[in-house]
Amino acid sequence: MKYIATIGLEVHAQIRTASKMFCGCRTDAAHAAPNTNVCPTCLGLPGALPVPNRSAIEQIVKTGLALHSTIAVDSTMSRKNYFYPDLPSSYQRSQYEDPLCVGGHVDIVVNGVDRRINLTRIHIEEDTGKLNHMPDGTSLIDYNRAGVPLMEIVSEPEIQSAEEARLYFQSLHQLLSWIGVNSGNLEEGALRCDANVSVRPEGQKEFGSKVEIKNVNSFKNVERAINFEIERQIQVLTDGGTIKQSTRGWNDATGKTVEQRSKEFAHDYRYFPDPDIPPFQMDRTLVAEIATRLPELPSARRQRFITEYAVSPADADLLTANTAVAAFYETTVAATIKQNGTARDASVWILGEFFRLLNDQGESLAAASERMTPAHIAELIGLLNKGTITRASAKEVFEICYREGTAPEAIVAARGMAVIGDSDALLTMAREAVAANPKAVADFKAGKDAAIKFLVGQIMRQSRGQASPQAAEAAVVAALAEV
Ligand SMILES: [Zn+2]
Repeated sequence: MKYIATIGLEVHAQIRTASKMFCGCRTDAAHAAPNTNVCPTCLGLPGALPVPNRSAIEQIVKTGLALHSTIAVDSTMSRKNYFYPDLPSSYQRSQYEDPLCVGGHVDIVVNGVDRRINLTRIHIEEDTGKLNHMPDGTSLIDYNRAGVPLMEIVSEPEIQSAEEARLYFQSLHQLLSWIGVNSGNLEEGALRCDANVSVRPEGQKEFGSKVEIKNVNSFKNVERAINFEIERQIQVLTDGGTIKQSTRGWNDATGKTVEQRSKEFAHDYRYFPDPDIPPFQMDRTLVAEIATRLPELPSARRQRFITEYAVSPADADLLTANTAVAAFYETTVAATIKQNGTARDASVWILGEFFRLLNDQGESLAAASERMTPAHIAELIGLLNKGTITRASAKEVFEICYREGTAPEAIVAARGMAVIGDSDALLTMAREAVAANPKAVADFKAGKDAAIKFLVGQIMRQSRGQASPQAAEAAVVAALAEV
């Protein structure tokens, strides 16, 4: 029997605001001492009244516009009631019936094929506190995170594989950082993902019972957890069992999902509109104004790089991984064209040597670009294209510039790295190479032209890559004619 998997993702993204969703407490809780960023409102004390954070709501609208959602005129905050120690008020403020953003979509490319994943909604939510489980079995509660603004992005259940789920999550991660509404810091939980997974036999119309995998926070683990869960459910069904609606956690160490509790249904939460917060009415003028704050989106910028700068689709993906890389590339292109280089020269050096050095050093673009600037890369390309330095020297100059931040021209001048085109000097080197390599000379006389290449190689080595290859070859031919 063949089975079909159906997956829907709920992505919780922390919104980049200075203060919490309903009070003035700071949001940089991760680095503060436990329970220092708290007040009566986010501690859920009786009588404390919430004040919605305008910036958080505007950033969700911005996200909705970037994801092609409809921004609702009317929306409501609701209370989702449940008890848990990390939730001091015993209800979470969220949206239920009237979310702020409705519909929308995320476009991904799966094995070269375009796929559109539709969104159900994007809504406002507040984060809970954090339980720290101690080795002695006690648990400590830190409410610094309680009330931090979140948006929940809910996809339609139309993702078909674990790989698609990962690509969708990666695409959201890129977009949210790109438009500046989320830090993108997965390690600190700024973006967390719950996956709803069900399987059904091919040909069956109704979905199987869904299992929710909670709080997966890396791209790799989203794919692993969903793959594991699909296989597990197929195995249960193949063995004649049934799948119960439930919530499972992902254990990274064992590579398995583990049942946490049987799943509650929406009516268990007794959602009702929060009486402390009047319904929102989104002003259309404000929505239009927020739309003007959107930067050129990644997909549009990627397409423009392909058409305007003739980079390949794969290179365009790398050059639009985030706004910093894209801006660095475009600034370098502009500077390179002034040095009579091309956009392609800029992408070759950035994706080649520059990315290699970033990887080797484990350094961020922001840190490295304080030393090596777009102007430096353009200057180096200019020196190479003018024939001032050889390609071999250019790589060396590039690395020195990367390490020290010295301008390429200054490096070439200080270290005497300009190309050796002087024919007398090269002829001397060629004669020495001929004298030192009688076998190559014999090979040449026996008609093996490869011997010339070998002798040119000797000159290149002796000149530490600074000899002009064409001039070196001419010198070798001249030196061979003398013997
Ligand atoms: Zn507070």
